[in-house]
Amino acid sequence: QGQGDYRILHEADLRDYLAGLPDLKALLGDPAGWTITEVGDGNLNLVFIVKGARGGVAVKQALPYVRLVGESWPLPLSRAHYEFLALSRQAQLAPGLVPALLHHDENLALTVMELLEPHIIMRRGLVAGTRYPRFVDDITTFMARTLIFTSDLALSAAEKKEGIAAFAGNHALCKITEDLIFTDPYRIAEQNRWTAPYLDGLATELRDDMDLHVTISRLKLKFMASPEALLHGDLHTGSIMVTDSQTRVIDPEFAFYGPMGFDVGAVLANLLMAYFASPGHERAPSERAAFEAWVLETVEQVWSEFARKFLDLWRAGAAGDAYPASLFAGAKGAARLEAERQAYMQRLFTDTVGFAAAKTIRRIFGLAHNIDFELIEPPKTRAICEARAVRLARAMMVETPVFRTIADVTGAARKLR
Ligand code: ADP
Ligand code: MG
Ligand code: MG
Ligand code: MG
Repeated sequence: QGQGDYRILHEADLRDYLAGLPDLKALLGDPAGWTITEVGDGNLNLVFIVKGARGGVAVKQALPYVRLVGESWPLPLSRAHYEFLALSRQAQLAPGLVPALLHHDENLALTVMELLEPHIIMRRGLVAGTRYPRFVDDITTFMARTLIFTSDLALSAAEKKEGIAAFAGNHALCKITEDLIFTDPYRIAEQNRWTAPYLDGLATELRDDMDLHVTISRLKLKFMASPEALLHGDLHTGSIMVTDSQTRVIDPEFAFYGPMGFDVGAVLANLLMAYFASPGHERAPSERAAFEAWVLETVEQVWSEFARKFLDLWRAGAAGDAYPASLFAGAKGAARLEAERQAYMQRLFTDTVGFAAAKTIRRIFGLAHNIDFELIEPPKTRAICEARAVRLARAMMVETPVFRTIADVTGAARKLR
């Protein structure tokens, strides 16, 4: 990577740069009429929306540091390379569910993609109490296909290891997850914050609970040492853009080969947080009851539809080097293989429950919080909502065997409300 050519593009530089690319110029129209707006609301990067007379694009550029924190926390530009690589793979595996890629510049750590409009970040829609009828089908297609088709259930051993190698360099982004999700919320760390003073007691309990420390460390080890499939790596509702009729997954810069339950758990955790946050956004009692019922139904359906699609793809002949057909011949073999598929999904469910819990706790006690809770005023109301989410998350983590089915999770969530 010719890092010497890297420079942060400001609006005027970006105009000149894009005007020098004939295909994009044709797509946008006369550069003199372009409007360029920086809209990045994420923690790490710059995102510009460029609109011209004929059309628009989104331009994402990585910064050599963490945007949320500043230059004191450097972060490799190569994450733009991994994001582009992941988006390319996801576009092949789950067509139409990621933004179309229009241009990538390795030196500038910059990607130009389809402008998603009028899509909004799903998290914002959930805060507003909006239901998304397409979401279950789209996100479960995305997860089932990207996960199984990058796993040993569908690839040859050589293809799989080439895939791992292609993403192995993204370890600085993995390290962020390892620290911020699996470590810091459970110890004193400068970057931690929570809704004080209301959650001070819970924060102390997390730092003192050795059962929890063992479980979170097992989950961390699984995250580090289980390259099952190509993960999105940051699949929360802030990485999903939606309309009533469309779902698009963005921002896979944390992509690497890891345990499948980490992606599935991210989706479930963020839906559960939307559920627990919902009463904090009420202006009249029970105003959001239908929304809240929809969120829990969605939690159930995300797991059940994901599992159904994943199993269907496996049965339909995702013929990877694991489970060779020659070992499962005949009716006896078919029956054992089917039982084994069910056992696989049960293990994946257990992982998913643990990772969902980890993703919840980090949003309430760690560095990165989410607007589901942050927009709740006053803080005391926010803390009540957050404490319910933490109570469920902690049970999911240390009493994982209690949660055998997704209905066990939603049932426990309902009781806490
Ligand atoms: P980060 O990695 O910094 O979190 P994201 O890729 O999540 O950056 O993008 C930040 C924001 O930019 C998103 O929340 C969204 O509002 C906007 N955005 C990103 N990609 C697009 C796109 N293709 N079309 C429209 N808006 C986008
Ligand atoms: Mg983002
Ligand atoms: Mg982010
Ligand atoms: Mg990001």
